[in-house]
Amino acid sequence: MSANSGSASSHGASRPDGWEAVIGLEIHVQLSTRTKMFCGCEVSFGDPPNTRVCPVCLGHPGVLPVTNEKAIEYATRIALALDCRIAERTIFHRKNYFYPDLPKGYQISQYDLPLGIGGHLDVEMEDGETVRVGITRVHLEEDAGKLVHAGGTTGRIDGADYSLVDFNRGGTPLVEIVSEPDISTPDQARAFLNQLRILVQHLGVSDVNMEEGSLRCDANVSIRRPGDPFGTKTELKNMNSFRFLHRGLEAEIERQVESLDSGERVVQETVHFDPATGMVSSLRSKEEAHDYRYFPEPDLPPVELDAAYVERVRSALPELPPARRARIIEQYGLPAKDAALLADNRPLGDYFEAVTASTGDARTAANWVLGDLSAYLNAAGVPATECPVSAEALAEMLGLVRDGTLSGKMAKEVFEAMASTGKGARTVVDEKGMGQISDAGELEAIVARIVEANPGPAEEFRQGRDRVLGFFVGQVMKETKGQANPQVVNELLREHLSDSGG
Ligand SMILES: [Zn+2]
Repeated sequence: MSANSGSASSHGASRPDGWEAVIGLEIHVQLSTRTKMFCGCEVSFGDPPNTRVCPVCLGHPGVLPVTNEKAIEYATRIALALDCRIAERTIFHRKNYFYPDLPKGYQISQYDLPLGIGGHLDVEMEDGETVRVGITRVHLEEDAGKLVHAGGTTGRIDGADYSLVDFNRGGTPLVEIVSEPDISTPDQARAFLNQLRILVQHLGVSDVNMEEGSLRCDANVSIRRPGDPFGTKTELKNMNSFRFLHRGLEAEIERQVESLDSGERVVQETVHFDPATGMVSSLRSKEEAHDYRYFPEPDLPPVELDAAYVERVRSALPELPPARRARIIEQYGLPAKDAALLADNRPLGDYFEAVTASTGDARTAANWVLGDLSAYLNAAGVPATECPVSAEALAEMLGLVRDGTLSGKMAKEVFEAMASTGKGARTVVDEKGMGQISDAGELEAIVARIVEANPGPAEEFRQGRDRVLGFFVGQVMKETKGQANPQVVNELLREHLSDSGG
């Protein structure tokens, strides 16, 4: 069933208790530009506190912000990849609120003229269903600094002795993506966020790392009887992992169902999910937080993106995951599951295509890339781009398997040595004295000697006990330290055992 965008009821999944959840997500993506949104400070993560700051991002009086052109381009890429319409003219607003991590007393953001509007993302669910989630808007803003609560045990403000402010993050370019309330289950929410993350990763505009905060997610949740108007929504803040998002939504939906079933009301408020207890608690009532008194930022000129600019950005977009999935299936004949794994991880997909281009054998390349190579990358915690075994090196090794120099088992050992030393396949094979003996001449003498030395089993074989062949293969392997090509050995043994008979 495919959905019409904009209508939350079109794919609403009614729960067994007769309620239907209505979920919209607000996602913040930190852009990986070199410098901040409105000043020349470097964007960084993990530097000593307050070392990436200047008078502009610290909000000193009299300074003038300057818009980061790269951030505009990155945000445009995201908006286009989500099929948004790009505004020809947008402006920045000041969003006024007072908070210790916001030195200016306002955040520069976009208000009624966002960069992109009216897009969508088609989310593929595990059961094969596609859920179309509308994208209300994509806009640009700047990040706030960061409070560090010290002296307590939990790192949270509750129980802390004092708080410190680190302004390094202040002014980092942020893209906010607001979805329509088209999501109706925690599963759909998690799948949406995951596919959005994969999409943004492909665009090369952010690390989209939830642990480091370059991808953050808030959720608006309400419940209703199918077909009824929307219920009162609450806002779940700062879901900092896919699991917490899923668990937090489940807990909040449960809480709302219990409230309404017992005749209470849902109050519009911000709620916090505590992963330790699995409970949702009220953070603050929303009523005092709504009036930000937005007004146009007088220090920044409007951003005008003409059609030629938008077209240039659009034509430079990389192949996006859905298209790549389809192409991998079509071009290489791989199963859909493998194609998805390769298409969703851009470096891994590139690696696979490079190996295949060299070897011409997509299936073997996919087996290696999704098998031994992925296992190695996961264990080492490095992306495919930093793999010590290059695609060319793996292709060379697969060539040695194809020409019979290496058995499948040896190949695994050679691969491990290549990964730990960074050496090429040929070098590893030479250094280790490895390499399968496939040369029939070399093996023939060994086979002949072993057959001669074991007349009893040889006779048994001739009597028709085929299983004795395994004994002979074992003897040859022992003699060659496992390096004989089993296929060649088998053929030679059969020849000799039938020849030497009387
Ligand atoms: Zn600065």
